[in-house]
Amino acid sequence: MNDNNLLEKVVALAKRRGFIFPGSEIYGGLAGTWDYGPMGVEFKNNLKRLWWKDIVYHRDDMVGIDAAIMMNPKAWEASGHVEAFTDPLVECKVCHKRFRADHMFELLEAIHRKSTRAGAISLTDKQKDMLLCEKKPGEHELKDFTEPKNFNLLVKAYLGIIEGQQSEIFLRGEITNGVHVNFRNVVDSTRVKIPFGIAQMGKAFRNEITPGNFIYRSREFEQMETQFYIKPNDEEGEKWFEYWKKDRMDWYLSLGIKPDNIRFRDHEDKERAHYARLATDIEYNTPWGWQEIMGIHHRGDWDLSRHGKFSGKNMTYKDSITGEEFIPWDIETSAGVDRSILFLLFDAYTEDEKRVYLKLNPKIAPIKAAVFPLLGNKPELIDLAKKIYRDLQEKIDGKIAWDDRGNIGKRYLYQDEIGTPFCITVDFQSLEDQTVTVRDRDSMKQERVKIEDLYLKLQKYLL
Ligand code: ATP
Repeated sequence: MNDNNLLEKVVALAKRRGFIFPGSEIYGGLAGTWDYGPMGVEFKNNLKRLWWKDIVYHRDDMVGIDAAIMMNPKAWEASGHVEAFTDPLVECKVCHKRFRADHMFELLEAIHRKSTRAGAISLTDKQKDMLLCEKKPGEHELKDFTEPKNFNLLVKAYLGIIEGQQSEIFLRGEITNGVHVNFRNVVDSTRVKIPFGIAQMGKAFRNEITPGNFIYRSREFEQMETQFYIKPNDEEGEKWFEYWKKDRMDWYLSLGIKPDNIRFRDHEDKERAHYARLATDIEYNTPWGWQEIMGIHHRGDWDLSRHGKFSGKNMTYKDSITGEEFIPWDIETSAGVDRSILFLLFDAYTEDEKRVYLKLNPKIAPIKAAVFPLLGNKPELIDLAKKIYRDLQEKIDGKIAWDDRGNIGKRYLYQDEIGTPFCITVDFQSLEDQTVTVRDRDSMKQERVKIEDLYLKLQKYLL
């Protein structure tokens, strides 16, 4: 990424054009929460719908579920989250600001690397905030940190209406558990046979120590995950792990992410959870370096075994042909919806001398097409444009926009900024020959298209 201000530009556009707003903004916000606006919700729903189509509808070996966010707390003990879902935290003894110790070490390492080369070291405001306390305006001293201590990320909630008799529960810290606890239910209620997967999308909550970088790290976010259950043997494990790596990378590339901006990063032994046999991240090249967008983990039988042990229920699977009984292994893919949105925005953000536009794949663009009458005060143009608009609303699976305000140039610029791939204009010629102009967002070229061919033309790009 060579645009140092890309994050700021994307945050500003997201606010200005109704993609993403700070959560509870009129009350001064709530750290680590974000609200999706009229464009953001369309963008997010399009992305989720594409994911679901690809993962559930286009496969024979995957079913979906939608489990509750609130779960019996024993599920979180079984999965190890109560004991070990932690990040190391350091606190400055002077200003009491808290930071993740691993982030602090990464920063110190980077400074050390730079200091061995010639030249002055420049720090961003965020990095200065991590290292320095302001004694008086303009005067700084180095922060004085406590030893790192582990901080549990699970968000607590209280269920029940009688004070003193409420039970403490957790909002789910990841969506995985809701799938594993339903393994038996899915096997018993459907015709699935191993190898098969269960897909789920939904909200997760974490008491992140340092939420930041816009929606990259928030305290409430969404995940889209698959748990793919296989026979417990090494060959199968490696085969499916490689399969899912390729499959998920291909999916991100199919959305139009530039290949140079996305890569795999295999986990080193020391960072892998003790139960994870293999682990890889898919990373995106953000303005602040390569960052995780999704994790692919070979989790062995860890989850099903633990839930079997803690619940006392049988989590084995019986092969109907061989009669073999075993606890399946699981290959997990776990992606952040919000991070995917942010990285797609980075990738699509484009500036030239004339305009700012989002080069989004039409399949995920919030608005599929916009319809304009050339002039907003000519009833005959408005009537025909409205007819086209209503027809496309009926036929196209996604939002169609209407705009009759201001001049055409301004309308185009507005649609460019929100990434609308096509603008359709009804002009006086349309009344004569039943054609309209279709303007392409990226090339800005206009072509005349017969009204009766419009739907097929758009559909070619949207399917
Ligand atoms: P990180 O190391 O960045 O904290 P993680 O390894 O804890 O992430 P996972 O538990 O593997 O993340 O979660 C799977 C995916 O969920 C991540 O790849 C990311 O896209 C998303 N995710 C995790 N935490 C957050 C968060 N706080 N805000 C937004 N998305 C998140």
